[in-house]
Parts: sequence; C-alpha cells; structure tokens
Amino acid sequence: MKIQLPLQKTKIICTIGPASCSEAVLSDMMRRGMTIARINLSHGTLEEHRQTFAAVRSVATKQGRRCPILVDLPGPKMRIGKLETEPLLLTKGTEVTLTTRDVLGTPTLIPVTYRRLPESVSAGSVIYLNDGFIALEVIEVLPDEVRCTVTMGGPLLSGKGLNLPGAKIFENSVTDQDLKLMDFALEEDITIFSVSFVETAEDILRARTFAREKGRKIYVVAKIERAAAVENIDEILEAADAIMIARGDLGVEIPIEEIPIVQKQLIRKANLSCRPVITATQMLESMIDNTRPTRAEATDVANAILDGTDAVMMSEETAIGQYPVEAVEMMSKIAVALERQRHMIRSSIFLQEQLKGELINRQITVPDTVSLNVSEAVRALGCPFVLTATSGGMTARRVSRLKPDGWIIACSNDERICDFLRFSYGVFPMLMDTGTREWYRRLISLLKNSGLIRRGDRIILTEGKFSGTTGGTDSLGIITIS
Ligand code: PEP
Repeated sequence: MKIQLPLQKTKIICTIGPASCSEAVLSDMMRRGMTIARINLSHGTLEEHRQTFAAVRSVATKQGRRCPILVDLPGPKMRIGKLETEPLLLTKGTEVTLTTRDVLGTPTLIPVTYRRLPESVSAGSVIYLNDGFIALEVIEVLPDEVRCTVTMGGPLLSGKGLNLPGAKIFENSVTDQDLKLMDFALEEDITIFSVSFVETAEDILRARTFAREKGRKIYVVAKIERAAAVENIDEILEAADAIMIARGDLGVEIPIEEIPIVQKQLIRKANLSCRPVITATQMLESMIDNTRPTRAEATDVANAILDGTDAVMMSEETAIGQYPVEAVEMMSKIAVALERQRHMIRSSIFLQEQLKGELINRQITVPDTVSLNVSEAVRALGCPFVLTATSGGMTARRVSRLKPDGWIIACSNDERICDFLRFSYGVFPMLMDTGTREWYRRLISLLKNSGLIRRGDRIILTEGKFSGTTGGTDSLGIITIS
C-alpha cells in the first residue's frame, strides 16, 4: 500500500446535483481534488439522494479513497409560492401584497410559504426577495397579508427566497421536515449534517439530540446565514462541530458590504475554537457557464484560504453548472498556488501570529501549548509531516488551525472520526489501529515506501501519551528518519 496525498491542503466541498451525480463526473471530480460531497436536501427526491449517496460511495471505493458526504438540511427557508406568469416583473414605486394564503401569484398579490410573516414584520420593515435583488418596504400589516411598496424592482420567479433581515422568525431552525429528512439520512448511514438558518446553540442541540435518541452520534455543521447567528457565534461554536459561512443568505440578512469582515471574524473565531470552517457560495460562480473564473473569483478563493478557512465550497458551479470538473480543477489549482506561498505572505503570517497571541493570552491549556510548539517545530525544522494518533480528532484539529506547512497525518481506528477530519486543513486521516506503540513505526515505513520521506527528514509525533483522556494532547516528539 502506498499513501497518495491530495493535491491541496485546503478541502474542497462540491454540491452534487444533476450536473455531477453520474459516476463518470464524480470520478473526475474526485481525481481533480474534490474532498467532500455535499447533498442539499432542498432539491430532489429521496430516491435521487439515495442514488447519489450510492454513486459517491461507489466511486470513492473504486478509487481506493474516502469521500465523506455532507447532508444539508433545508431548514425554514422562506419562499415565494407559485406565480401565475413567470417571470413576474415588480416595478419600483408600485404596491404589492404578500399573502400567507394559498393562492396563485399575480402582479399585485404574491403568496409566501412563511405563515407567520405578519407577526415578523411591521410598517417600515424591509423584505428582500430573490436573493436580495428585489426589495419591498412594508406599509401595513393585516392578519394574513402584508402590504408593501416595491423599493427595488426586478423579475420574480416561483419558489425564489424571501429574507427578513433582523426580524424575529417564529419557526425552529431545525424543522419537523428536517427531522424527517435526518431520519432518512441516518438510515442511509450519513453522519455529517449541516443545519440551515441556525440562530442559537439550541438549534444545534435539537439536531444532535434527535440523532442521539436514535442511538447515533453525528457531526453538526452550523450554517451561519442570519444576523442572530453572527451575534451568537461563541455559543454556536461551542455547540457545533464546524461552521459554514453561508454567504448566499448571509449576504441578504446582513449588509452585503459587511460580508468580507464578518467572514474574517468568523474564520478567526472558528480557528481559535478548533472548529473546521467552510467558506461557501459564489466562489467560482461564473464557472457555472464559463470554463474559467473571473480574476476576482480566483482572488476570493485565495483570500478565504489566507483568512484561515479550512474548506471552500461550491454550490451551483458543481450542482448544475456546465463545467463541474473544470471548476474543481480550478479550485484546486488556486489552493495549491496559494498554499505554496502562504508562509511568505505577510497578511497570512500576521494572522497566524495573531491567532497564536490570542491562544497565549487566554488561559492557555497544555494541548494548546503543544499544538503551538508543533507548528513552531514544523517551521523551524521544515518537517514535512506531523503524525498523530487521535481518539476524537482534536489533536489534529488543534494543529491544523495553525496551518503548518507540513501534512498532518491523523490516525484513528474509527472511520467516522477519519471522515470528519477530512474537513480540516492539511489533515490526511488514516484508519489505523493506534492501540500499540507500533502504529507510528508502521506509518513511517509506509511514508518511506510511498517516497514521501527519506533519510535525514525530521517528522513530528504528537499525541495524548500521558494524560489518557480524549483531547488531552501532551507530547511532542521529533524523529529523524534513519
Ligand atoms: C448559502 O446561503 O450561502 C448556502 C450555502 O446555503 P444554501 O445553498 O442552502 O442556500
């Protein structure tokens, strides 16, 4: 057996849809650098999802690799109902009424799926439709209708989204329908879920508790797409296993000009708390129709990596785009180019120093101290690998957030732990029995046989050797390869 490392340390998450659900396309995407397959349960049928799970697993097995599946629960997405004619053109300055009744939409009366809309808004509230391209201002609230003026017009289609920035939403982030979908996915042996429109830690707990009651342990990715989630990020990070900066809805729920700074803040906080962070949406948007991205998109991907993201995600680019394979290849190329240089880029060095400073300034723990020293040792000695035996994954994640130049090979005897470690930057998980001291000797000989290390190289060994508790990383050893 030989170890074949991925092309890039940054993890690439691809949303699978009609453009990419065939085994042929999935196979090419995996070869070009896709790390994780995301299945968005907002679209498609259960039977289609079942087939996609099977296709992803079958292609990964054929290629001798793992490709974890991230199942995205739709949450309480508010939408426009069915319209009589499409597109329906809303003109600036005209009046339109939103109704919670089940009617066919006309230019003056538009149905919405959110039944408690009249309770969430008041005169003067702003309502966005169609990803923020259309804006309405509320004039009057009636029991099941909301009268508005169109302040920014445009064409509207059935099923488009509706956003109420800053409003109280009277619906659970994890809806009853989400729980039914979770039940289906758990039956299909899915262990990683993203939860939409999270507002508080309780939303995460609802999903986790549901799975626990079914005797299952799941990983929960909190999608940060509401202003309340940004405000409550500390408790959400505490409760969740990872976060996704869902810039699509977030860019409507908070002023779009604040997205770049909020992205940086969320990434820093996630790094500090050892939670993998995914930067999502419109990263290579123009590749839905083009073979190449814009310069701005390439720069956006690179900047997210510089900010400290663990993973970058594609939605329509790979789900319905014309060039899903090319998009993955491009994402990988941008990541590889950036990663090669990141330790010479001033802003990246500054961010890493800041992160280390913050770790030292708060009450520093033994595991934090070890991870800081691991990253220093990688830099000082030019170590190509950090080897770790990890019982819950934390040792590897603690090192990963510091974005060392070397690969972190994380060994665990639990496939689910390995799968979730695939979300962390620079981590290459391996399923291995780490019960005996032999594990790292076996790994070193594997690395040698794979041509990845040679005589004189120094590699690092870090693990919880003395404490005997999960996450209790307390040792750092440096091995010179003989
Ligand atoms: C987003 O809003 O950016 C996002 C990733 O969520 P979804 O694809 O579910 O709209």
